[in-house]
Amino acid sequence: MPFRTIAGHRPLLELLARATARGTLPPSLLFAGPSGVGKRLAAVALAQALNCDNLSRFADGLDACGSCKPCTRIAKGVHADVFIVQPGDTGSIKIEQIRDVVDRTGYRPFEGRRRVVIIDDADALGIPAQDAVLKTLEEPPPASVFVLVTDRPDVLLPTVRSRCQRLRFGPLEVGDVAAILVRDHEMSSAEAHAAAAASGGSVGRAIDGSAEDAMEARNAAARVLHGAASSTDPRRRLDGARALVGGGGDRDELSRRLLAMSSILRDIGLLHARADARTLANVDLQSELQSLTRAYDGDRTLRAFAAVDRAIDALERNASPKIVADWLALQL
Ligand SMILES: [Zn+2]
Repeated sequence: MPFRTIAGHRPLLELLARATARGTLPPSLLFAGPSGVGKRLAAVALAQALNCDNLSRFADGLDACGSCKPCTRIAKGVHADVFIVQPGDTGSIKIEQIRDVVDRTGYRPFEGRRRVVIIDDADALGIPAQDAVLKTLEEPPPASVFVLVTDRPDVLLPTVRSRCQRLRFGPLEVGDVAAILVRDHEMSSAEAHAAAAASGGSVGRAIDGSAEDAMEARNAAARVLHGAASSTDPRRRLDGARALVGGGGDRDELSRRLLAMSSILRDIGLLHARADARTLANVDLQSELQSLTRAYDGDRTLRAFAAVDRAIDALERNASPKIVADWLALQL
């Protein structure tokens, strides 16, 4: 998957493409950032750009073609010079796995130009394995690049971290997550947008969660906002709270609904600011959003957004779902 096909992270990918073109890539890199945002994909794209037979331009750097023999072999994980080390069944990366790749980096690359060692979930390295990595990073083998990928960089030894140039990957835009879910994960547009809006910018989290739950949460949140928009009667508002908390008073369910409500209110705020419709998290609900925008002016949107934020916070600190929902229903 070449750089140009990866969603988001444009400045980082351009940096890697430029360093590839100029031959200025540091021998060890640390790709840090939330899980499920494309760090490993970027590492594989880098390995392809370093070994592709049919390079093309990307910004002012170089990118792989994605379809030549080396690119295909790297994508399949069978290229003789590109190793991906990852935790086994035990959940940790064993020192033997590290010794094995380090041994193999002692020779010149067999079939490619540059050898690339990708250590995925590098936080799963035990201390002895980290020491072995450190020794290698201190005297990097020629023509080799090490890429450590992790969502918990602070678990690594400071000595390992300081040897690596760190690239910080942030969360993806919600629109990018939705597009990936439709393209690569066979979700419908509605499922993808609901799941993406609840994903915190991580494709991984969007896939782990249930798209059905996310859609249900979004519908419930929109219903409650509509209800609050049409009545100031406190009794009707508290009926809305019951709709929000659901029958079982389930904490996770309320939490999903509050996150969905926060995402809808954010979109209403963006519509008030006349932002580009493509930046909306719930772009598929446009007509619904338009009608809510008429009921919620700018100030009310901000107040409601802040109230939902406080409610999420209270729920995380173990407040009762019913009390949180009742309180919130009167604030909207
Ligand atoms: Zn290629």
